[in-house]
Amino acid sequence: MKLTNTENDPKERIDELTLKLTEANSAYHTDDAPIMSDYEFDQQRLELIKLENLYPQFKHENSPTGKVGGDTARGFRKVKHAQVMLSLDNAFNNEDIEEFEKRIKRFLGLDDDYAITYVAETKLDGLAISLTYLDGILVQAATRGGGDIGEDVTENVSTIKSIPKRLEGSPEVMEIRGEVFMEKADFEQLNQAQKVLIGKAKKEGKKNLPKLYLNPRNAAAGSLRQLDPEITRSRNLSFLAHGWGKVSAPLGNNIWEAINQLNSMGMPVIEDRELCKGSSDLISYYNNVLVKRADLPFDIDGVVYKVNDLGLQERLGSSSTSPRWAIAYKLPPEKVWTTLQDIEIHVGRTGALSPVGKLKEVSVGGVKVSSVTLHNEDFINALDSRGETIRDGKEIKIGDTVEVYRSGDVIPRISDVDLTKRPEDSKSFVFPKNCPVCGNVAVRPEGDAIHRCTAEYECEAQVLGKLQYFVSIDGLNFDGLGIKMIKQFYDRKFPDTGERWIESPGDIFLLEENLKAKNINLAEEENWGERSVQELFSEIERKKTVSLAKLLTAIGIRHLGSKNSQLVADHYQTWENFKLAVDKAAEEDEEAREDLISIGGLGEVIANSVIDTFQNRVFNEWIAKLIPELKFTNPQSDLAESTPVSGKSLVFTGKLEQMTRKEAQVKAESLGARVYSAVSKNIDLVIAGPGSGSKSKKANELGIKIISEQEWLDLIS
Ligand SMILES: [Zn+2]
Repeated sequence: MKLTNTENDPKERIDELTLKLTEANSAYHTDDAPIMSDYEFDQQRLELIKLENLYPQFKHENSPTGKVGGDTARGFRKVKHAQVMLSLDNAFNNEDIEEFEKRIKRFLGLDDDYAITYVAETKLDGLAISLTYLDGILVQAATRGGGDIGEDVTENVSTIKSIPKRLEGSPEVMEIRGEVFMEKADFEQLNQAQKVLIGKAKKEGKKNLPKLYLNPRNAAAGSLRQLDPEITRSRNLSFLAHGWGKVSAPLGNNIWEAINQLNSMGMPVIEDRELCKGSSDLISYYNNVLVKRADLPFDIDGVVYKVNDLGLQERLGSSSTSPRWAIAYKLPPEKVWTTLQDIEIHVGRTGALSPVGKLKEVSVGGVKVSSVTLHNEDFINALDSRGETIRDGKEIKIGDTVEVYRSGDVIPRISDVDLTKRPEDSKSFVFPKNCPVCGNVAVRPEGDAIHRCTAEYECEAQVLGKLQYFVSIDGLNFDGLGIKMIKQFYDRKFPDTGERWIESPGDIFLLEENLKAKNINLAEEENWGERSVQELFSEIERKKTVSLAKLLTAIGIRHLGSKNSQLVADHYQTWENFKLAVDKAAEEDEEAREDLISIGGLGEVIANSVIDTFQNRVFNEWIAKLIPELKFTNPQSDLAESTPVSGKSLVFTGKLEQMTRKEAQVKAESLGARVYSAVSKNIDLVIAGPGSGSKSKKANELGIKIISEQEWLDLIS
């Protein structure tokens, strides 16, 4: 296919082709009497596209290449692939893979111990596409279609950013084969946007509502086959190449080299590739992919194995439908139907009642699944967090046949309910009004989807949850003292008093002492020995030294996460300061309350949660036992010597002109200062901008130094 014969006079050739193709188009669509064959038309059209790309100044405004088949209402133009796009044979188990290798050896007459080298790669769950490049310029993109004839989607594919329009050093003619797909995150985003459109269309009373896409593959197909390329452009499609069709010059001696060669031309290729020797390598590659599948940014539906040596490939050839040198090993589906046998309610450390669906065990994406989160009451009743209908309004009932899936993360979820299989006597699930563990009232505040047990520190489930959180990686991160061990220690009781071995965080640090006092030798207990006991007590000893921020996070005050704990700790510096301030705030000392609320923008909800927690009787017993066991580190001690404001108490007041109040506060705190909102005798320095009024006046009365914003900046620069 020599298409560059008119390079000397490209304008003339462009004019000629434009005229011929326009006539042919019109004849095809209106006269029903084609004046040239499809093949001829395709060849000349490709040539014109190439010339137009090289010499855009000569392109005609109404060029026939700019139209999709001339008449978009008819859909996409059909194109013949230069080389047929075959589909792959499928393997479903390890025996199929062993058989695949044996078949190859039989066909080629190879010895049993001959080690065939394969390229193994992940198989994207997307749309197969063939890209045609002439002299490195993208001239055509076509869907697979029936394998020999596909649809021309050049315009739409041109909007996909990852597909190069030009390749460096490519052969004269090259067909690239790969997959157009949508990443999981882009899919989620698209469906969110579709939801908004659906809501809008509903409000406007439209009949034809936009649809949500079922999965990324479905979304990629829908986005690629849009008649308006601008819609395709807005959809964030991706592309990766995995092979080639017709090429005018070889790309390498084997697949591995050829794919690397393609990549070096600028073509994105499937990155998860490995060279494997023999079927045992192939099977272990598969097992590795199974494990990491859920973490991949895109969906895959299998892995593909190809004989690496192109000479062997040539000899193996193809059957009528598929090449003999390649096979796809299907991954088990990530969506599976099974029965919901029961709904249990679990109670967490914050008292949240979480419904958990107990399933008839099933393998989802290669992982055994027997329970699934049902989130909350609304989810069971087919409503999302905004009160919008999900699952077409199908509620979940015990006994239902449900569709379970894993995607994006490893936690399985329910995506659908098969109403035709619902038992006749099934009843709606009634969410409990009481905590199933402690029996106390569980409430669901207005605007919240979660029911919560109100017993807090008197609910065993919440106490155990808090203890487990205390030792977890989010808490003090005990090495060798995990959630299971905490549960064992929580369940064990001292025979004389009936008290639990560990019923509050302080008991962890008192465990060694308490066991000794009761003459209990942990090393003699099942699964324990001298050494493991020694390691446990050493670790507990180490954890006695702790920063204030870490402790505040670990004791699990609701809403107070690690970031805010750090802010609070930086502000109050010591446990004593902090406790005093919270107690004052609880006694309706407005200044102390304001202070707590304003720390780094903590806000009222968190501040109130802190104050409420410190009002709790049991919590106070906890900290009374815990705090004396701890030794606090002083993270600010390094800073104390190095900045002019470390350890100082500051108030910013009035209008700041070179920074926001928040910026000023964060900066000051990073330098080791404490920032307060109210002026009192404990304040060292007031930074006053214009309009500071009463606070400056009060500072004057108290004899506190007042400086301007500029003086402040000079001080800390
Ligand atoms: Zn409870």
